Amino acid sequence: MTFEEFNLNPAIVKAITACGYTVPTPIQEQSIPVVMAGNDLIATAQTGTGKTAAFILPALERLTVPSTGPGKGPRILVLTPTRELAGQVMDAACKYGRGMKLRCGSILGGMPYRDQLRLVSAPVDIIVATPGRLLDHLERGSIRLDRLEMLILDEADRMLDMGFSEDMEKIVSRAPSARQTLMFTATMEKSVLVLAEKMLNNPLRIELAVRTSSHALIEQRLHVADNLSHKKDLLRHLVNDTSLTRAIIFSATKRDADELARELSRAGHPAAALHGDMNQIARNKTIERMRRGAIRLLVATDVAARGLDVNGITHVINFDLPRFAEDYVHRIGRTGRAGATGIAISFVSSSELNYLERIERFIGKKLPEQNIEGLAPLSVLRRVSGGNGARRPGSSAGNRFGKPGGKPKTSSGSGKSWGSSAKPGAAKPAVGRSSRGPVNQPVVEYRSRRNPSNSI
Ligand code: AMP
Repeated sequence: MTFEEFNLNPAIVKAITACGYTVPTPIQEQSIPVVMAGNDLIATAQTGTGKTAAFILPALERLTVPSTGPGKGPRILVLTPTRELAGQVMDAACKYGRGMKLRCGSILGGMPYRDQLRLVSAPVDIIVATPGRLLDHLERGSIRLDRLEMLILDEADRMLDMGFSEDMEKIVSRAPSARQTLMFTATMEKSVLVLAEKMLNNPLRIELAVRTSSHALIEQRLHVADNLSHKKDLLRHLVNDTSLTRAIIFSATKRDADELARELSRAGHPAAALHGDMNQIARNKTIERMRRGAIRLLVATDVAARGLDVNGITHVINFDLPRFAEDYVHRIGRTGRAGATGIAISFVSSSELNYLERIERFIGKKLPEQNIEGLAPLSVLRRVSGGNGARRPGSSAGNRFGKPGGKPKTSSGSGKSWGSSAKPGAAKPAVGRSSRGPVNQPVVEYRSRRNPSNSI
């Protein structure tokens, strides 16, 4: 299939060609015709699948026809959970819409009101927003949604996880009911289905094989760590690997991210932290430095896990495992992008065993354990799931702080599938309208409750 076959406006096709895309990705192939036909849609697609173009291209197509709606409000509204993701959606809109005369902008928390008020002082085509700040504008009356034609909820599950449910409902209650609504989500858990039921009108459902299918190019490894200082030893060893060109290291807390970045910098590595306590300008600057190659090691909290699109990330290191299994998938998806291979290394201590088991259930396979000579763990990880313990060949209490540069050895972990849920390569999407209500049963077996006061 080619992009021409969608019958998109020539200006849009030209922009896509200029991006070097020749073939639509599976989510694009499935979604674009459905959206162009005017349907509501709920789609499971992870970042890295080309999902942004899957909704931006038909949105742009809509904008080729002049608005007849009242006022100056946005014709297309994209809600995203994070400022980073909003930035990427905005970039995509500008990139694919560059042959069109558009007024677009973002409405994000942590950014000056002045620029946002200027943006909405004249008719605007596309607004990409985080829910909190947009609602703020709606309540002040500085933005109205009377003219809205298409509402896109990007990473809807993440917005729910971050406690935006109420804000989203308030925003949607101010939008015209005749709008078209698209919902993109990484997981089809119950809360997402409930939200879809409230906000979408008889949607079509497109479900790409989530989990590992898009991560076929990523080698995943696990290192058992005895404690924090052991994790730091492992990290010090790994970052000395010359094949590591650029890495994102994920820590559980903002404080740890700062501290690790400081320690790595002190050790002579170009490193920086990225987390939600930094203002947007500082965050953008850090991402830009990473893109330019001025930073080799980015120590981030999950705020960077979704949406961050930096090419050439060779390694993702989970210094701490994520509490929520789907974040693991998003984190490792920062590497192995655009056909490149990548390595995802996770550290697990005994206190994180629960998280590991959730992740393995979610991705449908066991992460293979590896030991590094001289840095093997002293403790044994007792995996209920029948996984092998972290027995280390040749390790002893005396060699913990041994030589960096030792070759990693695979010690255990079969990496074998946990039954039918593991379908690497099973990327064939299923499209269908649910017979009962808007959506079918959840497809994810495991899903934990998130704390809305997510600390990123
Ligand atoms: P997304 O899943 O939207 O974050 O997109 C992931 C990456 O894929 C982005 O860097 C896009 O520029 C790129 N991309 C999107 N569509 C295509 C396509 N049809 N062919 C090649 N690359 C694409």
